Amino acid sequence: MIDLHTHSRASDGTDTPRQVMEAAAAAGLATVALTDHDTTSGWADAAASVASTGVALVRGTEISTRATVPGGGLSVHLLAYLHDPAHPALLTELARTRDDRVTRARRMAELLAEDFPLTWDDVVAQTHDGATVGRPHLADALVAAGVAADRDEAFATMLHPGARYYVPHYAPDTADAVRAVLAAGGVPVMAHPRAGKRGRVVTEETIAELADAGLAGLEVDHRDHEDADRRRLAVLAADLGLLATGSSDYHGTGKLNRIGENVTDPDVLSEIERRGRLEVLRP
Ligand code: AMP
Ligand code: ZN
Ligand code: FE
Ligand code: FE
Repeated sequence: MIDLHTHSRASDGTDTPRQVMEAAAAAGLATVALTDHDTTSGWADAAASVASTGVALVRGTEISTRATVPGGGLSVHLLAYLHDPAHPALLTELARTRDDRVTRARRMAELLAEDFPLTWDDVVAQTHDGATVGRPHLADALVAAGVAADRDEAFATMLHPGARYYVPHYAPDTADAVRAVLAAGGVPVMAHPRAGKRGRVVTEETIAELADAGLAGLEVDHRDHEDADRRRLAVLAADLGLLATGSSDYHGTGKLNRIGENVTDPDVLSEIERRGRLEVLRP
């Protein structure tokens, strides 16, 4: 079994990278991808756990991007697999995004502090050193302050994009990010293209344009997709000649997603590895 989308404490998961590998082993997975938001800082720890866990590692990143649509911008998550982590253009973009994520989280904390007992230090206290900061850390601070019951409630209310506390952050244009991943020797796959609970989703026309720009695949099987979404995305992937993946988007205890709850076909992983610059690290 192959799960191509997980998060560790290097971003907004609750496990260390080693613990993600151990959770993968306990779930009986053969291969797992570590895909923290806008960073590769968890790769080394995960790679060091391949031998002891017996789980193969796909090194990846979930890149925050923005697609321009009529009436504004739309947040699109782009999974990059097996790319050179030192490619300058990609490195610069990811660093810029991470920096602005801090500015943005501070601004959201200020807005939240107008109505709730919350300080920036409370957010920092919920964030592991060097982690990519995101709304989940704000959620954890709100939970610790007794303002929300759990991350889910915080996301449904105060942290929702429609809430007055929501502030966007810098993110590269989606097509530019696709091209940067390709230039870095990586394989770009759009994460949860129909996760509508989080806000608007990309149109099929936009997906077709991204396929023209070099997008390699679509994450079809994902908890945030209804059966009808999965069927439609599978047809779309076939029509556009894109790979279809399935993944858990595991975040440790930060989300309900269980590691290995959706999986990817071994032939699809073989094709990703064939196209990627890095190898899958095997025990
Ligand atoms: P951000 O990128 O900082 O805007 O935060 C978005 C991240 O929050 C996503 O990557 C999700 O993994 C996470 N997230 C979204 N909704 C929820 C939820 N209901 N509960 C926990 N985490 C969530
Ligand atoms: Zn996340
Ligand atoms: Fe995502
Ligand atoms: Fe994710």
